[in-house]
Amino acid sequence: MIVVQTFLLMFPSVCQGLLRLTGNILRNSAALSSSSATTDVIREAQQEMNKMNILFSQYDNPPLLWSSHEEAQCFIDEKLDAILFDCDGVLYRSPDEIPGAGDCIRRLLDAKKEVFFVTNNAASNRRQLQSKLQKVLGVDGLTEDMMVSSSFSCSEFLRKKFLPSLDLDPTTQKRIHVIGSEGLCEEIRQAGFLVTCGDDSDTSSMSREDLATYTFPEDPIDAVVVGHDINFTFRKLCIGNVLLQRNSQAPLIATNLDSFDLVGNDARHIPGNGCVVKALEYSSGRTAINVGKPSKLLADIVLGDRKIDPSRSMIVGDRLDTDIQFGQSSGMYSALVLTGVTSASQIEMIVKGESEEPMPSIIMPHVGIMA
Ligand SMILES: [Mg+2]
Repeated sequence: MIVVQTFLLMFPSVCQGLLRLTGNILRNSAALSSSSATTDVIREAQQEMNKMNILFSQYDNPPLLWSSHEEAQCFIDEKLDAILFDCDGVLYRSPDEIPGAGDCIRRLLDAKKEVFFVTNNAASNRRQLQSKLQKVLGVDGLTEDMMVSSSFSCSEFLRKKFLPSLDLDPTTQKRIHVIGSEGLCEEIRQAGFLVTCGDDSDTSSMSREDLATYTFPEDPIDAVVVGHDINFTFRKLCIGNVLLQRNSQAPLIATNLDSFDLVGNDARHIPGNGCVVKALEYSSGRTAINVGKPSKLLADIVLGDRKIDPSRSMIVGDRLDTDIQFGQSSGMYSALVLTGVTSASQIEMIVKGESEEPMPSIIMPHVGIMA
């Protein structure tokens, strides 16, 4: 025992190195014990990262390329107070954790960094997002305050917009028509609004005659919100469209404008909320207000309300048009991971001037690099 203590006192840096090595071994074994599907995702991300290293070896002023824990840690310790994480494609590829994601969040919380989970998925409210992350990542200490789903940013936007006239009297309460999930409706209701979700009819069609005789029990409304609705129908489009026609002062609000989301381990594209928003925009002639990424409105809700300095904040995401654009337009560092929708060839197109998508300030293969 005395020999061990003497060794620790004489060679502290050797001991720190051994501890780091042990940590890396434990992290790598955690990665190996993960499902083979997410291990494949990591392998592919590493291959894409190798292409990045080759690509940027020929260019001046490349983004920071993180290939080791040490590079990431140094930057995080010195330059960041807050780290915002996109979820799907970054922390998990549904339903599995990206190896090392839980360790990464644990390490940041231990280091007393502000951590937020910012997702354009409006299907769940903050409580549901919290319980999903707790289950997938196995991290204790996640709170509802850290959850920023676009259903929450939508309810915050509505609350601020109608704040002077917020009233719990049902005769004067503001009425919001929602094309979206129950999670989104619940979040808006909790903010003090009356929510209408269209009629209870189980038919998806709406003929000319049906629309001509529909009585519109939803009318009048103060806003129309479009979130992620997997039961979207022509009937819902007709009802939402006429409500906008009749209530010209009511804004059309989109929880996000994503064109598609990824599904499954072979990355199938499922149409995103933006498709439904575009349908309603086209039929009504209106332009939607986006309260999800990359909107500055969302940055104001996450950072502005908490007085957090954007220049000491970083968003980690897998998507250029939402996550990375969000970071750039809000004055944050933007870190791209290669476990989601973006490939090396898309970055190469930006470098060659063939794409106008934003260039991230940092690129790493997967979020486990930050663990
Ligand atoms: Mg994502």
